[in-house]
Amino acid sequence: MNQSIEKPKSSKESLILLIAIIAAIVLGFILGGFFPSVGIKLEIFGDIFLNVLMLLVVPIVVLSMIVGVSRITNLHQLGALGSKTLVFYMLTTAVAATIGIILVNIIQPGLNQDLVISQLPNQSNLSNMDISTALKELLVGNPEKEQQGLVGYNLFLAMEKMDILPLILFSIFFGAALSSLGKKARKSIEILSVMNDAILKLVHWVMYLAPLGILGLVAARIAHSGGFKAFIPELMSLGLYALTVLLGLALHGFLFLSLLLRIFGKRRIRSYLKGMGTALLNAFSTASSTATLPLTLQGVHEENKVSEEVSNFVLPLGATINMDGTALYEAVAAIFIAQLYGIDLNWVQQVIVILTATLAAIGAAGIPEAGLVTMVIVLRAVNLPIEGIGLLLSVDWLLDRFRTSINVWGDSVGASVVERWNRPKIPKS
Ligand code: ASP
Repeated sequence: MNQSIEKPKSSKESLILLIAIIAAIVLGFILGGFFPSVGIKLEIFGDIFLNVLMLLVVPIVVLSMIVGVSRITNLHQLGALGSKTLVFYMLTTAVAATIGIILVNIIQPGLNQDLVISQLPNQSNLSNMDISTALKELLVGNPEKEQQGLVGYNLFLAMEKMDILPLILFSIFFGAALSSLGKKARKSIEILSVMNDAILKLVHWVMYLAPLGILGLVAARIAHSGGFKAFIPELMSLGLYALTVLLGLALHGFLFLSLLLRIFGKRRIRSYLKGMGTALLNAFSTASSTATLPLTLQGVHEENKVSEEVSNFVLPLGATINMDGTALYEAVAAIFIAQLYGIDLNWVQQVIVILTATLAAIGAAGIPEAGLVTMVIVLRAVNLPIEGIGLLLSVDWLLDRFRTSINVWGDSVGASVVERWNRPKIPKS
């Protein structure tokens, strides 16, 4: 029953694509950095690429979830897979926030700094965010913004607005219902599975656009921040803070998650990382885990051979709720703001920062700079000045790219660990 799709790319082709993407990122930085006017002209290629990726997200989430879940033959197995996935995601996100807290307390990037606060983004979005509203929005959405939470009321609106959580919940139950129908549903599952394969085939084709699209995305982004001439001084003024975030992300991604992959996933780190190369670079270039989901699925299932049942279930969920990089960054940023304003947080408050950063990361959408907005939850919880966010704006687009890559890496490590953890219970078909 498990029809693995024919592998359209040889490993030589994958390698060439990977090298082309790396070259595109480097060239994008150079062009956008030194010739901002050229960088802006290239934006159109980035927009086309991003649009096409986003176009694939809804069908991929719905089809892959339904197909994945329908292959799980009983509800008990589904419950076990679901709870293991959630436990893995929550724990690793909390560890990420903890690593952030430890580093920011050791390095103390906010002491003796004198910075100018710039404008806050989307004031209206920020004004009424606290833990209880965030939890409520996660569950039932926000009718004022026509945004749906986990339990949605209109599937088509959810597709239009790209509210992924209600689509996931519906697809899980629809897949479970199909599976419970037994023989009668076999043909329908088969058809959905072929449609899912066709979407993945589209993802392969889209990848040929990746180098040009990524060149456009990177060049335009750095050009919009004024090129190197304007951006480098801004980066330098926040250098120690940026370094703290990057060091934390590196420790979490390369050390903690990689160890989990080796010890619990029983995978070779280098080859797994290579299989995820395109997805991780795409995450860096788009700053969106959601837009990267098609490639994450491809890397985990096709390149790294994690079973379809597990990857189809674990990854769409991960792209929406599992954001290790975001949690780490929010924790560092909150304490950095406290240090800048000379506010001392005791250990209880720092634990609250860890917990709320974990929640804020779960609530953040998989789109660029979503973490910047949900950070209000963390700041509110420990009474830090919300205006502090204005301090971080100038470098956030760059840090966003690194944290998004770690978010995607966290999802893919999750898939292999959960597969292993769940192995005796899910028979391979
Ligand atoms: N851009 C991140 C993502 O898509 C979310 C964030 O931290 O802003 O995963």
